[in-house]
Amino acid sequence: MEAPLTREEIVAWARECYEDLEFSAARKWLAQDPARKAIGFLPVYAPRELIHACGMLPVGIYGGGDQLEIIRGDAFYQSYICHLPRSVVELGQTGRLDFLSGVLFPSTCDVIRNLSGIWQLLSPELYVRYVDVPQIRDVETGGKFWRRELQTLVDDLGRVAGKTPNDAVLRQSIALYNDVRATISALYRIRCDEPWRIPTEELYLLLRAGEVVPPEEFLQRAKAYIEATASDPLPKKDRVRVIVVGAFCEQPPLGLIKTIERSGCYIVDDDLLVGNRMITQPVATDGDPLTHLANAFVEHGERTSVLYEERPEGKRTLMKERIDAAKADGIIFAAPSFCDPALLDRPMLRAGAEAEGIPCIAFQYAENTGQFQQFREQTGTFSDSIKLWGGQ
Ligand code: SF4
Repeated sequence: MEAPLTREEIVAWARECYEDLEFSAARKWLAQDPARKAIGFLPVYAPRELIHACGMLPVGIYGGGDQLEIIRGDAFYQSYICHLPRSVVELGQTGRLDFLSGVLFPSTCDVIRNLSGIWQLLSPELYVRYVDVPQIRDVETGGKFWRRELQTLVDDLGRVAGKTPNDAVLRQSIALYNDVRATISALYRIRCDEPWRIPTEELYLLLRAGEVVPPEEFLQRAKAYIEATASDPLPKKDRVRVIVVGAFCEQPPLGLIKTIERSGCYIVDDDLLVGNRMITQPVATDGDPLTHLANAFVEHGERTSVLYEERPEGKRTLMKERIDAAKADGIIFAAPSFCDPALLDRPMLRAGAEAEGIPCIAFQYAENTGQFQQFREQTGTFSDSIKLWGGQ
């Protein structure tokens, strides 16, 4: 019997996946069978189940982070938008995404919508789809609309794959992603209860790896990681508990996540990579799979800035609810520069939080930010002030 993987081994594997801008894990999977194909998707949410059910590999495209020099990508965009689309174009123009047979562009914001048009012009041979995610949380309107969109997607993806999945296959993929979401939820729960056991740096690397490897492999590693950390907890430190809000699309550099933790904060909840847990309840695996998937999204979709908030006071009460659920002391609003969805929501979210006496700080980053001293000072002072004068 093989020895179980250690925490170090799993984190080293995840780091390798995260740092690999050639997407070697996906290429290796494709190389095992010439009939295999991969479909990319941009943040925030894409129905990965459908890609998987067609026998293809879903691959999250999160830009180049702080490791990619932007040479061609800047030529496509003005200076006053976020960094993500430039590095995605750079990845494409340098051939790093040439293993993909198609890319899905969710209706996250205008920038990603426009990027889908650029992609169609640059790669006319690829399947490119702008995925109009529903904004009405009602099964009669949003649910029916989304069911039709999912049907179109599965038909299109089936043509790309050369085989359209039947209901039984769709249910298997839905069940698999139920397991993925439940495992991510378990990781988040453990980090919230025992943040010294699962540092956010490690959790984040694991989740980034999960965006580029088959879900079956991610599940195996993630479950092994939970087991490994149970027998190998790290020492408990005197840190305040914070939640990070606004980092759902363009991702902060890993150095910024480490900086927040090392300056005296345990991150006990966040919206990093939130698309991987966007549906917050298990999707039913009987009946019509597309109806269940559609209705689960409209009824149990995560509350985030890229989805319309229907409750009149929703934006003002959300932070208090999150803080209470995570038993956190304060909020770090960390959003990409020029990110409309995050920065337009921030004043409402922050006002609601401060009205409840919740300590908050806010800053902006870019995926390629390289200097962390100013963040260290800000989050370190935040942590000290909560220790001195109390949190929420
Ligand atoms: S970082 Fe914000 S503005 Fe940029 S693509 Fe993502 S959601 Fe849109």
